[in-house]
Amino acid sequence: MQSQLAEEMKITVVYDNEVKKQGLKMDWGFACLIEGVNMPPILFDTGTSGSILLHNMKELGISPGDIGIIVISHMHFDHAGGLQDILGLNKDAELYLPASFEHAISGRKVAMVKDAGEICENVFTTGELLSIEQSLALKTDKGIVVVTGCSHSGVGNIIDAAAKFGMVYGIIGGFHEFSDFERLSDLSLICPCHCTQYKQEIEHIFPEKCLGCGAGLVLDL
Ligand SMILES: [Zn+2]
Ligand SMILES: [Zn+2]
Repeated sequence: MQSQLAEEMKITVVYDNEVKKQGLKMDWGFACLIEGVNMPPILFDTGTSGSILLHNMKELGISPGDIGIIVISHMHFDHAGGLQDILGLNKDAELYLPASFEHAISGRKVAMVKDAGEICENVFTTGELLSIEQSLALKTDKGIVVVTGCSHSGVGNIIDAAAKFGMVYGIIGGFHEFSDFERLSDLSLICPCHCTQYKQEIEHIFPEKCLGCGAGLVLDL
């Protein structure tokens, strides 16, 4: 079978330290929705507060029950904080949690992710890098787009892990205190979100490639 490229993929930032759309709330944390053809909608991370997550989802017209897969990058409060609330409104979504997650979630199909692998068509996990965090590699027409939570495992390591699935085109998510900016120079799209400490520096070095993040931002890939 010929491997098919995802014709359209869309990332909607649902939860972020900044806001891009009126009516949405900003808060420390990160969550985004990933949609594409031949795949269930994926919620990547859940922010800090379930009520803010659900508020922003409602404003963005995202129905909690429609989410087919929930991926949690790592178990910090600002990424897993809204998980219980979303599980209360969604009984069927499959969960992909980092292997270091210690609490049981009963009555759910849960994958404890340690190694790299496919989650669904055109969506791959890097595996739990440095025993803390997994990121996603999305196969799009433009190349691999990396979706990352806080990048505690290092932006460079994450890009290297994602490159196993194809040429890395871009990255979106929290970069934490990442400062090895040279590592981003081969990318065409850089969207520093959430906890990225050096947002201004990255925007300054890569003005054409850099896209400002915030709740409500939509990336059509
Ligand atoms: Zn974190
Ligand atoms: Zn974080």
